[in-house]
Amino acid sequence: MKTSTQRQFKAIKVWIVIACLALLVAYTLYQTARNHQFQFFGDLFYEANINAKVVALTFDDGPSRKGTDPVIRILREHNIKGTFYLNGRHIETKPELVTQLIDAGHEIGNHSYSHKRMVFMGYKQVANEVESTRALIRGVGYEGKIHFRPPYGKNLFILPYYLSKKGITTVTWDVEPETFNQGEDTPELIVKRTMANVKPGSVILLHVMYGDGSTLRALPEIITRLKSRGYDFATVSELIALSRENTTKD
Ligand SMILES: [Zn+2]
Repeated sequence: MKTSTQRQFKAIKVWIVIACLALLVAYTLYQTARNHQFQFFGDLFYEANINAKVVALTFDDGPSRKGTDPVIRILREHNIKGTFYLNGRHIETKPELVTQLIDAGHEIGNHSYSHKRMVFMGYKQVANEVESTRALIRGVGYEGKIHFRPPYGKNLFILPYYLSKKGITTVTWDVEPETFNQGEDTPELIVKRTMANVKPGSVILLHVMYGDGSTLRALPEIITRLKSRGYDFATVSELIALSRENTTKD
């Protein structure tokens, strides 16, 4: 017969196993939410499957008054069309900046209304974040396809489920040259990290809406170096089309 101490010991072991399993599940879900090159549902695009030297420059957040003019000017000087993932709350207060981006021929994408983490949002809140921003982008007169880029590149179940139901492609990236760690993001390092990681079909993530920050200062050099390595530039929609063409050829 088992003594009560043996029974207690067995119960403790069972609870330890349950706690370990729960921790393992939580850790796996945490890593999945952080992995911007995987999602449970729907279309996800983070790089093109192509051999041609073509990349997309993508710019997140804003629009802001500080960032929009200079980035439009730099891209115009180099005859490049970029892709801008914008936040509804900024489109709402500065629609004229979105008009400037559209008039300059750039692609516009949805980067949520509030830029809050969407991993634990409920269905209704996810729908609000996506739809209010889509409506604002359409309200400014944008007619192109509108893809979605999750804030911080994070998603888990409800967001990708919602997007897949609506037929909206999630766009993330494969080259992320900024770290946002104090003092680590000099323009030289941003250029260096971009050139070290870029490959044909890359989607490059940049933040230029903070005005005269390191990334905006790095941008002309990034473009010049990529061009001298033989790279051309496309919008994300163009890159997706090139990737599909190449996949059907295989
Ligand atoms: Zn963002």
